[in-house]
Amino acid sequence: MALETRPKFVGVLSCSGEEEPEGTIARNAVRLVMEKYRPGITVSLCLPLYLAGDSGEQEFAKRVPVIAVDGCEKACARLSTEKYSGEVSDAIDIRALLRQWGVEDELSRSHPRELEWELAERVAREIVRIIDRYIEEGKVAATNTR
Ligand code: SF4
Repeated sequence: MALETRPKFVGVLSCSGEEEPEGTIARNAVRLVMEKYRPGITVSLCLPLYLAGDSGEQEFAKRVPVIAVDGCEKACARLSTEKYSGEVSDAIDIRALLRQWGVEDELSRSHPRELEWELAERVAREIVRIIDRYIEEGKVAATNTR
């Protein structure tokens, strides 16, 4: 019997965006995916640890498909991944998404209200769509979803 060689996890790297509301949405969306929507298959990579040169994080990102989730066009998570581990599999720019969705409200970076949580849920569903596509395409083995 052939050994399963496909990755069992999807890495998700969120920007740390403390200064921007979209950064807060990025972090909350990633947590929702890990804890609520696709636990077991989603692994969150820690951007500060990653940038500090942690070889474990950087090597892991070379072995699994990575989705970069950035608050804005500066794309800190995507660019860091590309610098240390290679191309990301997919990238989300939340500011661009909000523009696309017609969201013009002023958003809070430190005190998420109902709107910010709704947007985090919407972004989480975008991430889930990508993960499910990887499973469907056989890019990851879905043996550890629950
Ligand atoms: S991508 Fe934008 S929001 Fe996120 S850390 Fe970089 S500058 Fe801040």
